[in-house]
Formats: sequence, C-alpha cells, structure tokens
Amino acid sequence: MPFTSLGFSPTALPFLSRAIAELGYLAPTAIQAAAIPGILQGRDVVASAQTGSGKTAAFALPMLQQLVGAPLTKTRTVRGLVLVPTRELAAQVGESIVALGKYLPQHPKVAVVFGGVSINPQMMGLRTGADIVVATPGRLIDLLDHNAVKISDVQTLVLDEADRMLDLGFGEELNRILELLPVKRQSLFFSATFAPAIEALANSMLHDPLRVEIKAEPEGEPDITQRAIAVDAPGRTQLLRHLIQAEKWTRVLVFVATKHAAEIVADKLRKADINAEPFHGELSQGKRTQVLMDFKAKAVQVVVATDVAARGIDIKELPVVVNYDLPRSAVDYTHRIGRTGRAGQSGIAISFVSAASASHFKLIEKRHAIKLVLEEVAGFEPVEVAPVNAADPQGAGGIKGKRPSKKDKLRAANFEKPLS
Ligand code: AMP
Repeated sequence: MPFTSLGFSPTALPFLSRAIAELGYLAPTAIQAAAIPGILQGRDVVASAQTGSGKTAAFALPMLQQLVGAPLTKTRTVRGLVLVPTRELAAQVGESIVALGKYLPQHPKVAVVFGGVSINPQMMGLRTGADIVVATPGRLIDLLDHNAVKISDVQTLVLDEADRMLDLGFGEELNRILELLPVKRQSLFFSATFAPAIEALANSMLHDPLRVEIKAEPEGEPDITQRAIAVDAPGRTQLLRHLIQAEKWTRVLVFVATKHAAEIVADKLRKADINAEPFHGELSQGKRTQVLMDFKAKAVQVVVATDVAARGIDIKELPVVVNYDLPRSAVDYTHRIGRTGRAGQSGIAISFVSAASASHFKLIEKRHAIKLVLEEVAGFEPVEVAPVNAADPQGAGGIKGKRPSKKDKLRAANFEKPLS
C-alpha cells in the first residue's frame, strides 16, 4: 500500500510526499499503514509496536496535515502535544517532525522541551507560541507553572512510550497535564507493553480507540543475531578490543553497569587508539547530545553507555551491541539489543558472560526462551570458576520482574533530574 492510499488530504499530500521521498521511505511501515487512516479520520488510537517500527511518522504525518491551511496566528496555538519519557527521545521525535514537515507551505514551529537544561531559552522560544510541542512531562509542568505555554487548544495529544513514562514515575505529572487539556481532543497512545497500569491509563484517556497491534511479521522482525561469549571479567576490555579489530566493527554500542565503568572502559579503548566515548546520565546534556551526534555521524566508533541509552535512541545502521556487563533485567536486555537491527538492517548483539554472571545470564535466556551457545575466543578462554554466591553477579542485584524496584525508580528520577 503506498503512502498516497492512506487518506491524506489532496492539499497536504504533495508537501508530505516530498519529505517522505527525501527521507527515502518507499512505502508505509506496518504501523503507519494500520494507524494513519484511523488517525486521519480523527479517531483515538492505542498502538503497540516494536521499537524501530516507524511509529513517529505514524503520528507525525497526520499532525502535520492538520497544520496545512491552518490560520496563521501571531502567537501560534499549540495544536499538537507529544509527551515522551526522555530527553533523547524528545530531541529525536522533534527532529523527525521537522524533517517530515519541511515542505509544508507554512513552516511548522516545533518546540522541543526537556529537563536537564536551563528553562529560560525554552520559555523565550515559546513566547511566540508553537504549533507542536514535544516535551518530557516534568519540564512541561514547569513551563505550565511559569505560564510559558498554553495547552488548552491542543487538538492532538500523543503519548509516546507510555509504559516507560509510567516506569519513570511520571504518572502524577501525566494526570496533571491531562486535566489541563481540552476534553474534546484526539489522543494517540503508543506503548511497547500493556501492563494493567498502562491499560488503565489508556482506558481513562481514550475514546473508542482504534486498536493497532503490530505483531512481528517475518519481514518486520528485527534481524538480530544474539551471541554469548564466555570470558573472565578482568579480560573483557581486552576481548572487546580484540573483537573490534578482528571482526572489523565500524561502530559498536557497549553497555556497562555503571557510569564509572563507562568512563574506565572508554578510556582504556582510547588508550588503545580506538575512538571511544562514554555516555551516561552524569554527563552534561550538551556532551550527551554531542556524543550521540558524533556516533550517528560515524565520527565516534565506540560508545560505552549505561542503560540511559537503551531506550528510544535510534542510531541508523548500528551493526553491533555488546553487553560488557549484563543488564539487570530481561526487559533491559530486549531494549539494549533492540538498538541494533533497526529499520530492516541486520545486527549482532553479544553478551560477555563471566563465571560470576553465568547464572544471571541463564535467567535472561529463560525469560526470553532462548539458549545461546557459549562461545570461547582463542586467547580469552575463561579460567575463573563461579563464586559460591553467584546470586548477585557484578553487584547487579539479580534478575528482576517487570515491576521497577525502588532503586530503579530512584535511578530513573536521578536521570531525569536537571543536571545543573
Ligand atoms: P521510529 O520507530 O519512529 O523510531 O522509526 C524507526 C526508523 O524507521 C527511523 O529511522 C525512521 O526514519 C525510519 N522509518 C520510518 N518510517 C519509515 C518508512 N515508511 N520506510 C522506511 N523507514 C522508515
């Protein structure tokens, strides 16, 4: 089905098609084909889809159509509000909307607002209004408290990664924002998972929604080869260096458990002449943005990250993800390896398994119903044996259920807290 059959208005279609063609989208993805016609008819939508499914364009294109021919007021009214859980996702969604709206006759004004940076420029930026605001809930509340933005005329509300938003403890903020929105509006709800709390939130804010569930089709399923390599914990950096060189990895995202480890591993790689950067919640927002930009532009070869980078970030053609430290939960494992194999590309996800973390890895395998061959690399064969108490590998706290622990919530809250 081509983009032209999705029900766009004849007035808006040429402007949108030009941007779609420029971005190289040949045909709608499954979620776009399923959701866009309903959204264009004004229906509420509740959608579940895999990461990398193209959901941003699914909600952005209809929102942009609304702006075509809309009266140009001096202080633009916020017509579209997109709520996202993290700063990185906010920036990424904002960029996509701008790219898709590039050829609209009246350039859409897209304001991207998130915490961790000074609020003043954002307030200044909003002075002349905005057509679409992309925001993290906490910063939007701050801006509402400062009367810097008015959301009473919003026609379309998007909740992106709603599950993550609740995980991060944004429930209260969401409720406050929902109260300030007009009752008569279109709501689009995207979530990777549908736990009871997510269902309840969807039910409370959606009116007769169109349900879109994109099951992984064979061709749509991410093509990720999962591997596990047995290695002694102290030999992991050497092994990483060896693999980068031997397997000729052009770009690799390496996950570690702590900020400290991110710094140390990146530093060691740099000393071995590998262009590596750490990426974690304690870096300034400016530095984080820079690292991501350089990584996307292929100016950095290795990014060593904490789980901050595991969700929502879309790095085109990322061939390899390495779990240097295993993730704490099976859910985090999915998000980490999902950074590769996006948008139809194939990818490799490698987990380093030491004697101490072997039992933890078994649990991850069990949760995912997979069983990987534990490879050994010549020169790095492990000699360590599992410690008697292997219940808490790498101090990682053991595998967790789906519910975030208090510690998780705190860590998440810290991550969202302004850095200044
Ligand atoms: P998203 O799930 O919105 O993060 O999108 C994942 C990736 O798919 C992004 O790099 C998009 O630019 C890309 N994408 C979105 N729609 C299409 C399409 N119809 N054809 C090809 N790529 C697309």
